[in-house]
Amino acid sequence: MARLAEIRQETATARTLVFHVAGWPGHLAGQHVDVRLTAADGYTAQRSYSLAAPPDRDRVELTVQRVPDGEVSEHLTGPYAIGDPVEIRGPIGGWFIWQPVEPEPVLLVAGGSGIVPLMAMIRARRAAGSRALFRLLYSVRTPAERYYAEELRTPYAGLDITYVYTRELPEGRAGIPRRIDAATLNAVAWPPEFGATTYLCGPTGFVETVADLLLSLGHAAQSIRTERFGPSRD
Ligand SMILES: Cc1cc2nc3c(=O)[nH]c(=O)nc-3n(C[C@H](O)[C@H](O)[C@H](O)COP(=O)(O)OP(=O)(O)OC[C@H]3O[C@@H](n4cnc5c(N)ncnc54)[C@H](O)[C@@H]3O)c2cc1C
Repeated sequence: MARLAEIRQETATARTLVFHVAGWPGHLAGQHVDVRLTAADGYTAQRSYSLAAPPDRDRVELTVQRVPDGEVSEHLTGPYAIGDPVEIRGPIGGWFIWQPVEPEPVLLVAGGSGIVPLMAMIRARRAAGSRALFRLLYSVRTPAERYYAEELRTPYAGLDITYVYTRELPEGRAGIPRRIDAATLNAVAWPPEFGATTYLCGPTGFVETVADLLLSLGHAAQSIRTERFGPSRD
């Protein structure tokens, strides 16, 4: 049984939850867990959440986005409080993972909360002192909806970050809000022959659109690893 130890508000509607999980076996960046809530009448609900940070003894970090009327996310971002128990199963996943021994360049493409497992990779890279080149392309609606904004403002050697805003630009930034398109990927992604691995994560529609764009630009299907979080509301 896990217990909530710490809460960090990431945005107005997303929070990082740090749990103590006795006997946690450790995990790899990119893996996820299943979180199961049980009500007083025995009713249970279970959802998947990505691990947001590399292993740190019995600490497990998740970042949960509140989905309007969402059965589990509204509870975890609302009444769920320090000391409360929850059942956490995992770690789960063996394909959407990155390990610091891998020297190839890495392109990370996140849509909204899809940044969570990619942040675990960025943090694992830094913790291990890896010199693999990383590029992050992060699509969010507005500047206020960026997760981990402070941490990503601090420069990391070998990590380039590009934000794409779909609804509202930061003050003073020229242009208009837009979505990731072929031109964005041409500008941010390395050419296919560079041999980068892409990790692409976000709402289902976002992942499918970006994966199709990468394929149309000549990136090999086996170089693109995807994780779909669920429906896209746009
Ligand atoms: C492998 C994996 C990893 C995930 N990691 C994360 C994570 O790190 N952080 C995170 O916040 N979420 C993550 N998710 C999504 C998460 O599992 C839930 O789907 C999400 O929290 C909504 O659950 P809910 O019970 O609140 O909503 P529900 O009660 O299931 O659904 C309420 C309404 O919201 C819609 N909806 C359901 N899921 C989503 C969604 N993902 N996006 C938009 N609308 C949705 C439904 O269609 C429905 O209309 C992950 C999903 C998967 C499969």
